[in-house]
Amino acid sequence: MSAPPPLPTRARRVVVKVGTSSLTDDAGRIHPPAVWAIARGAQVLGARLGAQVVLVSSGAGAAGRARLGLTLPLTLPEKQAAAAVGQALLMLDWERALAPTPVAQLLLSAGDVQDRERYVNAKNALEALLRLGVVPVVNENDSVATAELKLGDNDTLSAWVAYLVDADLLVVLTDVDGLHDRDPRHHPGARRLEVVNDLDALAADVGDGGSGRGTGGMVTKLRAARIATRAGIETYVIGGGGAGLEALARGEVRGTRFLAKRATSARKAWIAEQPVRGRLDVDEGARRALAQGRSLLPSGVVAATGPFAFGDAVDVVHAGTVVARGLVNYARDAVDRIRGKHTSSIADVLGGKDFDEVVHRDNLVWLDPSGSMPPR
Ligand code: GLU
Repeated sequence: MSAPPPLPTRARRVVVKVGTSSLTDDAGRIHPPAVWAIARGAQVLGARLGAQVVLVSSGAGAAGRARLGLTLPLTLPEKQAAAAVGQALLMLDWERALAPTPVAQLLLSAGDVQDRERYVNAKNALEALLRLGVVPVVNENDSVATAELKLGDNDTLSAWVAYLVDADLLVVLTDVDGLHDRDPRHHPGARRLEVVNDLDALAADVGDGGSGRGTGGMVTKLRAARIATRAGIETYVIGGGGAGLEALARGEVRGTRFLAKRATSARKAWIAEQPVRGRLDVDEGARRALAQGRSLLPSGVVAATGPFAFGDAVDVVHAGTVVARGLVNYARDAVDRIRGKHTSSIADVLGGKDFDEVVHRDNLVWLDPSGSMPPR
């Protein structure tokens, strides 16, 4: 086997997933020194890579149970209550640990990453937060999400968040130092796998257990690694909490590195797969702008065919050929009213303006005539 490529030296965005067992003590209470160490590790890693950091943090359920003195098993409403109480405690610690950097709480449920309109909404919020220098701290919205609306574990959530922010790296912190060829808790001779090239070809007996406090075991970490690496996001499952993150920043992987499958942008791959709800015909100037990676402005749109709503995927067509696909910022009737016009007149025409662009370049994928995607 050829040697894997070296660790990335630069990244635009990194998502760090922190599980309950990495943040809480045996009684399930949040353990501030662990939070601080992880906050510091995440910041060191981000600085080292030149990357913006997004955290996906569990711990709300456990912290809420401890705060309320609840013991397992809980009813669903009790679990929801515990998550609501614990989430506030969790954010208090992240806010203190990351200061002076501002933090933001983002609670997502399955629909927010699987429904087009909500995907664009969540993405726009995350983009704005990152632009403002905030560290978003994401958790699943356990207080309102019922079983069928849940992703269920934060490992899976972290892969979706990595996908959502178009991260280059996903780092999943765990209490075992990565993936072994056999379950290390039952096989003392188990060997750690340093690099996994192809998760689908892997046949390790990884065991399914996690610690008692969280919900994820190695199985959900592998699922997360599979979702992320398939979307082109390199994934690390490492131990050691904050120290593990600092080690990673030095190029030392205290766990397993999962190589990404292909270098397509995750978000763009997602957009290209969306069902198309409409069509925008554009002029030559707009076609050239899009080919250079710029946004689609109202002035370049000559016709809109619908019906499509905010957040829908539409084909962008020039001279009868589909040249791009994107998620549209305005519904069909609004596009009809602003097409051909300068951006500065959007507010007058519509009586208000949400966006300058009809399709923002971050939500646009250029398709060459053969229909394949360009490199990112
Ligand atoms: N979202 C849950 C919490 O904050 C945890 C889910 C998980 O551990 O994967 O308690």
